[in-house]
Amino acid sequence: MFKIGFGNDIHRLEVGRKLILGGVPIPSEKGAVGHSDADALLHAITDALLGSLALGDIGSHFSDRDEKWKDADSAVFLRSAIELVRAEQFEIENIDSIITIEQPKIKPYISEIRENVSNILMISVDRISVKAKTHEGLDSVGLGGAVKAEAVVLIGRFN
Ligand code: MG
Repeated sequence: MFKIGFGNDIHRLEVGRKLILGGVPIPSEKGAVGHSDADALLHAITDALLGSLALGDIGSHFSDRDEKWKDADSAVFLRSAIELVRAEQFEIENIDSIITIEQPKIKPYISEIRENVSNILMISVDRISVKAKTHEGLDSVGLGGAVKAEAVVLIGRFN
């Protein structure tokens, strides 16, 4: 049996914050604003995993009003989501994702991001696709005011 999940996320970008995507710190003039480390990609993948089994969303599991998650490493959220998926005897088939940000260019960091996500989820890197694009100067993302991420995940169970 297969199930599919979809997740997305957006974070405001401001000078003086760190930009972390897929757990990888990326040198940037502006960083992402959020309660945790504001890692839009890990949040989108976490939401996709939770969605695949209709387990709610990242906010229902890790409230942004909970002091416990202030500046939290978002790998914690992703690990928790994959544990829930594995508890139901499902395993990830593959993940596809897109990061949309005007600058900096994410391409030089893609392989490191894929490796890092593969380590967090304990699946091979060839099951993880990470793509990056700009928003062509349009809207808040295109004007450099936000970073967005989207992810789809396919999970399978073979018993
Ligand atoms: Mg988020």
